[in-house]
Amino acid sequence: MRFDILTIFPELFSSPLREGILRRALQAGQIAVNLHNIRDWATDKHSMTDDRPFGGGEGMVMKPEPLSACLRDAQAGMQGRVILLSPRGEVYNQQAAERLAGYEKLVLVCGRYEGVDERFRQLYVDEELSIGDYILTGGELAAMVVVDSVTRLLPGVLGCADSAANDTFSRGLLKHGQYTRPREYEGLNVPKELLSGDHALIEEFRFLESVRETLTRRPSLLRDVVFTAAEKKVLHRAGMLQAVQRKIDEHGR
Ligand code: SAM
Repeated sequence: MRFDILTIFPELFSSPLREGILRRALQAGQIAVNLHNIRDWATDKHSMTDDRPFGGGEGMVMKPEPLSACLRDAQAGMQGRVILLSPRGEVYNQQAAERLAGYEKLVLVCGRYEGVDERFRQLYVDEELSIGDYILTGGELAAMVVVDSVTRLLPGVLGCADSAANDTFSRGLLKHGQYTRPREYEGLNVPKELLSGDHALIEEFRFLESVRETLTRRPSLLRDVVFTAAEKKVLHRAGMLQAVQRKIDEHGR
């Protein structure tokens, strides 16, 4: 998977790409990240990439010409899907990450100031993504969120083959709580089911914990979860099936 990132602050990416799983994925050639400095494509002598907005108002707007020239350079040889990071975009989630992991190349365009000229968006952008309903100073952190969340879904990137499959959201449920040593910490014990060595019991306990967490914290997620007949039996035995069904009905499936 190849990520091409258009930014006026390429240095912002150096630290996150130098550590942990992203560094390993880069070294193993599972991902490539090409940073393109939009400033290199400015045509005036001051390397201006922004200008005042027509119609007046505060702030500056990113000029379309340096952006499109930079994009042409980034698309040379191989066309990628062009994504503009923007608070006006679709809100990014795990399903979107899974969908994006299917592309060979993503081109991530990072806005700054008041954003990019609307005509650049209309002419060149395939989709707009927001990482949440709040305003960042620029699209770089949002682009990094996309790079990080997509990379960990690529085959072979995570050490344990199924650790992405069991993540929160992977099937619409929040993940159960996790415990490690010591067995007792400040008066709180690790649940006995997890110490039982009985794999079926552990799996059932974790499943019920996942459903319980989802019911309490994010009940609307249950609308899209499909439970198997065996899971429904487990929920029934635990006295949770009705509560789950009620939440699904409330949130309209
Ligand atoms: N004035 C713009 C508005 O109200 O929609 C906000 C511009 S913001 C200060 C500058 C840039 O940060 C945006 O062009 C976008 O690239 C990025 N950005 C800000 N918030 C974002 C978010 N929630 N998700 C993705 N990108 C964001």
